[in-house]
Amino acid sequence: MKPKVGFFSFTSCEGCQLVVLSMADKLLDLLGAVEVVNFREASSYKGEDYDVAIVEGALSTVHEIEEIRAIRKQAKILIAIGACAHIGGINCIRNFDNQFEIKKAVYGERAANFDSILAQPIDAVVKVDYYSRGCPPNRDGEEFVEIVTAILQGKKPYIPNFPVCVQCKMKGNVCTFHKEKPITCLGPVTRAGCNAHCPSYGNACIGCRGLVEEPNLNAHQETLSGAGLTVEESLNFYRMLNGMMEVGK
Ligand code: SF4
Ligand code: SF4
Repeated sequence: MKPKVGFFSFTSCEGCQLVVLSMADKLLDLLGAVEVVNFREASSYKGEDYDVAIVEGALSTVHEIEEIRAIRKQAKILIAIGACAHIGGINCIRNFDNQFEIKKAVYGERAANFDSILAQPIDAVVKVDYYSRGCPPNRDGEEFVEIVTAILQGKKPYIPNFPVCVQCKMKGNVCTFHKEKPITCLGPVTRAGCNAHCPSYGNACIGCRGLVEEPNLNAHQETLSGAGLTVEESLNFYRMLNGMMEVGK
């Protein structure tokens, strides 16, 4: 019997699901091997019986916490897709401000009707088996297909555990810190796997794939301050997508 797959979305822009849809040509072989029972952006059909849950978005309401617990109970395998699900992503920026004031600014007098809590990644609440990283994951679908194929074959997917800088060098890019007008970059501490996408187009890496294991944050902090960032600016740079790491991830 084919494994049943459900896609689920929490607090997010839903860009990750769109990227999966745009990978259709890469997924054709895989689609024959699974049965998709829940994928709101592609179909109105909703099945409650699934083996693999692919989850996008951060958790930011009490209701979402209950929902992810129910999904985890049902799914044998849970894949977090995208930075929001993996590291909380952009949603965690608001964690560093007064929550009541933020709620009031967004919802006005109806603020008290919303059960929002601090934004957090999926694995702050339930176990995650695999991560398809990025904001959004690579459009070439390489890593997503690698993960789903490995699951179907009962193997461990290959996910790089070295910094973006390595792939940047392999592509022969000039380091963004060494340009005439240096651009501060999170590549030295961010997990590779995107083929140094942003620096290859002259932009900084903003850390959307999360930190590499055992990042040398002290050395990176020195590099950022050497390039002119204050401690507060450096913190804000990390907090753009990786704020959750300050509270233990
Ligand atoms: S990770 Fe990025 S693209 Fe995906 S849902 Fe979050 S904000 Fe959107
Ligand atoms: S270079 Fe950095 S921000 Fe850009 S896609 Fe890769 S990990 Fe994400």
